[in-house]
Amino acid sequence: MKGVYFDGSKAVFREDLPVPEPSQGHSRIRVMYANICSTDKEVLKGYRPQFRGVMGHEFAGVVDRTENPELMGRVVVGELNEGCGHCLYCRSGREKHCPDRKVLGLDGLDGCFAEYLVLADHLIHPVPPDLPPEQAVYTEPLAAALEIPTQVHLDPRSSIAVIGDGRLAFMIAQVLHLSGAELTVIGKHREKLDAFSPFASHTRLCGEYDGTDAHDAESTYETVVEASGSPEGILLALKIVRRQGTIVLKSTYAGTAEVDMSLFVVNEITLVGSRCGPFEPAIRLLKDGLVRFPEVEWHTLDDFDAAFRSKAFKAGFRINVQPEGINFSQKSIKFT
Ligand SMILES: [Zn+2]
Ligand SMILES: [Zn+2]
Repeated sequence: MKGVYFDGSKAVFREDLPVPEPSQGHSRIRVMYANICSTDKEVLKGYRPQFRGVMGHEFAGVVDRTENPELMGRVVVGELNEGCGHCLYCRSGREKHCPDRKVLGLDGLDGCFAEYLVLADHLIHPVPPDLPPEQAVYTEPLAAALEIPTQVHLDPRSSIAVIGDGRLAFMIAQVLHLSGAELTVIGKHREKLDAFSPFASHTRLCGEYDGTDAHDAESTYETVVEASGSPEGILLALKIVRRQGTIVLKSTYAGTAEVDMSLFVVNEITLVGSRCGPFEPAIRLLKDGLVRFPEVEWHTLDDFDAAFRSKAFKAGFRINVQPEGINFSQKSIKFT
């Protein structure tokens, strides 16, 4: 089969990958849509130096080989962390923290930038028939945004800031907006910030705003979510967070940030790391149209270089799908 493979230093397009066979408790998914995430680009910069395999973890596809009749033929999305199943974390519902976990397209598991992937059944979530797969592909990053309200109490009367104007920030801002809180988005690009105006009360440009007026308590924020994807984000977050407030860290990047930790002590700041989140609420929000994302810019797998370099809101791969004229009603999809 065709796929985009990480060989330890770069991505390569291959046509000689074996079609995977599912083991017990696993199903095979024929990938329809797979989105590129900034984490994939971090892999290319050295974020996961040990990884070798098919890249990618955001997808929607059809289950084509399984022992589970509930899944056969369904359009599905899938979670990326597969735990060992018996350690303390796996036993207590924290599989994503299993020290021996495999991670789709990132660590020990071939990902979704290919014609097929295999995934454990308990990580697979069927998509309702009225949610088109090209929108369902946003489930995983939206779930990551929904992790924030599982961790932090969001008071609808409070002020929240999101640092970052990229894709992750866009999803987070939409989720936080649903809480009713007054939302400010701080970013580097005026044209990107404009896209946040339907759900952000205020947008501010980084260059014009460095947090120096934040000694004035009125201009600080109870909760600051750092989603800029760069180490400077945490420094700005520390300047604008209210005393006794909370900073939520959402970005992962290859590199480190130098931070004066005593500020956390003196100002009694709570720091919350936040990663993958719950899929079912994300599917519900997408299905009900309560969050909306721009159309993905689709590429073919062999065009991966252009896809990775794309400046579109979201670039991805359209695989096993005719570009035109397909009716996506689940009942009509049968792959042999
Ligand atoms: Zn992702
Ligand atoms: Zn485990």
